[in-house]
Amino acid sequence: MPDFLSLYIHVPFCRKKCPYCDFFSVTDLSLVNAYVAGVCKEIKLCSAMAGPWPRMPVHTIYLGGGTPSLLSVNQMHKILDMVQNCFCLAPGSEITCEVNPGTVDAPYLANLRQLGINRLSIGVQSFDPRKLSFLSRIHTRKQVFDTLEGAARAGFANLGLDLMYGLPGETHDVWQADLDTALGCNPAHLSCYMLTIEPGTPFFDCCEKGLFLPCDRDRRMDFFVQTAEVLENSGYIHYEVSNFALKQKNCSVHNSHYWHRGAYLGMGPSAHSFVPGKTGGSPGRQSGSGTVLLSSKEKGSVRSWNAADMQAWLDVLAAGRLPRAGCETLTPAQEALEQVMLGLRTKNGILVKALDQDIHAFLVRLENQDLGIFFVPVGAADISRRFRLTRTGLTRLDSIVDTIATKIFDKMHFYDNF
Ligand code: SF4
Repeated sequence: MPDFLSLYIHVPFCRKKCPYCDFFSVTDLSLVNAYVAGVCKEIKLCSAMAGPWPRMPVHTIYLGGGTPSLLSVNQMHKILDMVQNCFCLAPGSEITCEVNPGTVDAPYLANLRQLGINRLSIGVQSFDPRKLSFLSRIHTRKQVFDTLEGAARAGFANLGLDLMYGLPGETHDVWQADLDTALGCNPAHLSCYMLTIEPGTPFFDCCEKGLFLPCDRDRRMDFFVQTAEVLENSGYIHYEVSNFALKQKNCSVHNSHYWHRGAYLGMGPSAHSFVPGKTGGSPGRQSGSGTVLLSSKEKGSVRSWNAADMQAWLDVLAAGRLPRAGCETLTPAQEALEQVMLGLRTKNGILVKALDQDIHAFLVRLENQDLGIFFVPVGAADISRRFRLTRTGLTRLDSIVDTIATKIFDKMHFYDNF
């Protein structure tokens, strides 16, 4: 398990709410100053928490949102300064900031670089004016290019573009044009997400009223395969189901840390934190029939979260307490399932020796259907054998994880009552 800490800072402001988005953010920018003071206080409180985590080296900081680029350079400076004063920031840490075109200009980007931010995740979504308009994004195609140019001039070599596909009526040609334009910009990283219709969003209401339909399962798979084929043929590493890196060094360290279930502390309204348990779900006791998953007696990982409510978050901080709205200790079954669920999303896959025989047999069946593959990482011993999904397997990720979940929960129930 990685022995470093990641920090996530949620900046919950947007100029306008996009109708598909269910992330927590507000459009009242008069709250920004109170937020900055609040998040600085939270950083300080987090660093004083009990346990070893606050004293671990921090390797990644991620400013996400919302739209972090709505903060002024000065406000950004205050937050990063507070992190630097309170945590042990390792040299060469990856410091990412999400920026949205239409909220930044070249001098602003140059200032972010000066503050030590060394990676940008740019919320492009599309280069196609029709798609941008359907998504109600605030930016134009030209503003995307201006942002990319400003970022390159500011010296950001590690640039990631977020793109979205599978809009109602979108054709493969339209998506291909977006991919081609993105590739023409030669970004170090691409995140390609399918438009999902989340309950509680205006798009969800539109679907309920029959104004448009979400993409069906077959088309979703076709778009996914098209994306993976085009980007891998262009030399990108498909290292996570939605993420592609030009070179190994361009894979997001921060997000990889999540997928490896490393420790992270989240600050800001709605942010989540995760502190791995003693074993973090790694293989536990053995039985005659093969490796079983963790014993429920072992200390589990803890996940906690802040209120998705600006005033509630500010009120708790004003009282001098950490604004945790809830927390849970994962059961052994949850630990095991998370490992599988997150691992199968990635090119690294999952460690085979941690698995029960029944699950192992299921993976063998997947391999026989070309949905997965067993492999030993280069230079590793056979005991480090892993299993990952193929491109076709990834199109069935959800149902594969569901089947494994059923097996895990049946098994855990059996052993917990043994
Ligand atoms: S800018 Fe991003 S965070 Fe804000 S509403 Fe749109 S999608 Fe959501």
